[in-house]
Amino acid sequence: MGFPHILLPQAAQVWHLNQQLAQFEQIPEAKQRAIQAESLQALCEWAALHSPFWRTRLASVGWTKASDPWSILAQLPHLTRPDLQEHFDALSCSAALPPDTCIFAHSTGSTGRPVRVYKHGPSYELRYLAHSLRGSVWHRLDVSKTAFKFSVRVQDGMRQSWGPPEAWFGKTGSTVFCRSIERDVAEMYLRLKQHRPGYIMADASLAHEIARYALAFAAADKLRIDAFLCTGETVTEELRRDCQEAFGARVVNRYTNEEAGWLAIQCPRHEHLHVMAANVIVEIVDDAGQPCRIGQPGRVLITALHSEAMPLIRYDVGDVAEWGEACDCGINMPVIRRIWGRQIEFVRSRSGGMRYAPLVAEEFLAIAPMRDMRFRLYTNPLLRFELVCAMPLTDEQRAALTAKARQMFECDCPVEIDQRDAIAWGQTNKRITFMALDEPWLEG
Ligand SMILES: [Zn+2]
Repeated sequence: MGFPHILLPQAAQVWHLNQQLAQFEQIPEAKQRAIQAESLQALCEWAALHSPFWRTRLASVGWTKASDPWSILAQLPHLTRPDLQEHFDALSCSAALPPDTCIFAHSTGSTGRPVRVYKHGPSYELRYLAHSLRGSVWHRLDVSKTAFKFSVRVQDGMRQSWGPPEAWFGKTGSTVFCRSIERDVAEMYLRLKQHRPGYIMADASLAHEIARYALAFAAADKLRIDAFLCTGETVTEELRRDCQEAFGARVVNRYTNEEAGWLAIQCPRHEHLHVMAANVIVEIVDDAGQPCRIGQPGRVLITALHSEAMPLIRYDVGDVAEWGEACDCGINMPVIRRIWGRQIEFVRSRSGGMRYAPLVAEEFLAIAPMRDMRFRLYTNPLLRFELVCAMPLTDEQRAALTAKARQMFECDCPVEIDQRDAIAWGQTNKRITFMALDEPWLEG
């Protein structure tokens, strides 16, 4: 690269953003909130000017340019996935941006309600990369090692570097891409052994399957991995423990979505996450819409501060999370103690309350050596338990699995066990093991 080194224009922009973000992290929270308020005010003005949907909605809560943006935010109704589906054109501000600069983002979520939003491509990309870089810096990633990326969106392949942003600023190791659907865990593990990466990017459930596989079948030949960089699902204590035990690996939890990009990244010092407060305002609210206190799980609403192409204000992303205490690491951005995952992973317990349905896979694996499993609770009521197992289940195993499923999900309803060759997860990154559906199971 030679000295002195001249960065590409885009790299220089990302570096500059990175420096601004590094400063922002350290200033007192009150100052951060003042900066957020300015961005929020600008977003409301823009939205009222260019989006008929927002013009009406902001007027409904009495918004004017002189309004306090925080009190407006507290009064606005939540923006829902059906809103995005039904009012796409009225929400869009793409006509006010230069032609051909808006890109679509598609999100399926886990609810079967696909949405699409517009993003302003050039600015979104730069901000996205700058926040990625913060994550790499926070966690002191050794970019000279190989990165291994599992995704449903890639074909198998290899790149000689990590790609942007890291490769813009120095020499990096290579990246191996591995298509993660329609594929057995054993085969994926074999690919890891071939490449011996330092880092693995994967969704939490896939990371966990790989760690469990390594613990069960590869104990004699241990791979060492620095870290799993997880997105997409709940990072559990069990996942951290199994990755540590199987690979000596730590887990770095990262919370993102297609609609807004980076929402929160795990603290460099602790297991909780910091909200990426220069990118989003995160609210956590209870069923009555009131802010949750620390430790109280509630719905996550996000306001994407730079969503000019399609303003997302108080967007209900369908996740449940809880706040944590302020952090001592020097980063003053709000702390999310725990992301509980999709509301759909909560089941109604016998006492009538909502209860998280954590799947303790070990308890099922103790009964039968399953490779994959999926539970769907239908309104019949019926709990369908799909599983993949190398050998046919015995009657005793079926009875024990039925009893375990009933106990774990607190349901008295019939359980139907469906042993199959593979589970049809479809084209999704999110392998949600348990889901309570709003529909009956119809045979055939
Ligand atoms: Zn921290």
